[in-house]
Amino acid sequence: MRLNLSDHQRLMDFLGRIENRTERFLGYPVSKDFDYRELFEFLKYPLNNLGDPFTPSTWKVDTREFEREVIEFMAALFRAEPDNYWGYVTNGGSEGNLYGLYIARELYPKGITYYSQDTHYSVSKNLHLLNMRHIMIRSRANGEMDYEDLRETLRIHRDKPAIIFANIGTTMTEAKDDLNRIKSILGGLVITENYIHSDAALCGGLAPFITPRAAFDFEDGADSISVSGHKSFGSPIPCGIVVAKKNNVNRIARSIAYIGSLDTTITGSRNGLTPLFLWYMIRKYGNKGLGQRVDHALETAAYAEKRLKEAGINAWRNPNAITVVFPDAGTRVKEKWQLATANGQTHLICMPNVTKAQIDEFIDDLIP
Ligand SMILES: *Cc1c(COP(=O)(O)O)cnc(C)c1O
Repeated sequence: MRLNLSDHQRLMDFLGRIENRTERFLGYPVSKDFDYRELFEFLKYPLNNLGDPFTPSTWKVDTREFEREVIEFMAALFRAEPDNYWGYVTNGGSEGNLYGLYIARELYPKGITYYSQDTHYSVSKNLHLLNMRHIMIRSRANGEMDYEDLRETLRIHRDKPAIIFANIGTTMTEAKDDLNRIKSILGGLVITENYIHSDAALCGGLAPFITPRAAFDFEDGADSISVSGHKSFGSPIPCGIVVAKKNNVNRIARSIAYIGSLDTTITGSRNGLTPLFLWYMIRKYGNKGLGQRVDHALETAAYAEKRLKEAGINAWRNPNAITVVFPDAGTRVKEKWQLATANGQTHLICMPNVTKAQIDEFIDDLIP
């Protein structure tokens, strides 16, 4: 059986449109400098990473050995204790956040979750799904958590375990909540029952390569970290990575006879292709290459900020951010370049694939 000619033509036309849309894409944090065609043959197989990546399973058409290497690589980047981490490749950053909160709730069912105003929209839904008590903390103008408000709020609830949902790169301004400050507040109030989850959807793949290093990982006090795979690394299928402390995960693991594995993940069937993509990216670039991509992105962001300022536009960036923020750019430009706007602020995100030539073209559009 074959697709008829008009359906085939329709697909080809659509391909052209997608190519075109991808070329003008500055507003969302997804990398487009990937080429996974070497993995093409794997599309023929029903890859499914059913169950826990670290325990053997009866199902063998999987990529779990590659998935484990991805987790090992990320655990090292996030300075996890070598014998006390666990993780898996998720369907995206949101699932990893849900997972971190789920562990926190199992550890502290009576805890309160604190998260800033600038937190990703999916988190309040997850808190609702998990039926977790939560309090929103004010944000500062740059999008970072207002530590004074956190301290005051925690002080009133000192008798309850504290679950901190920290943003390591907020969606709009790429602000990073500082785990050192958060820990010192918890310590000062002697809230010893606490859990910190880092939502590093974008910056999980950037921050380990930037000096000075942001305080966000296991050595800085995180208990779990979630990253999006399609953001800094790049993938044709949305995906993510979650890494958590193994001793905490063990508390929620259940052995399932049907799959001959542990039910430690949120979904049953899991994507078998995305761990291959991530593995491929990691092996191809290595630490050095990934670091160079980050340097390039930072350089492009500095260039974009400078050019916008020269054009009289009030642009700014958080320290070492690849996101450039400026006043609402107007519908025409936002439509063309697919730019997100919230609270009167538009941002463009200089992912590793973005070039200075694209920035120039964008600025010409903005200031005709
Ligand atoms: C993108 C993003 C998410 C959601 O990640 P997905 O991979 O889209 O599920 C969560 N938090 C922040 C800060 C993000 O930028």
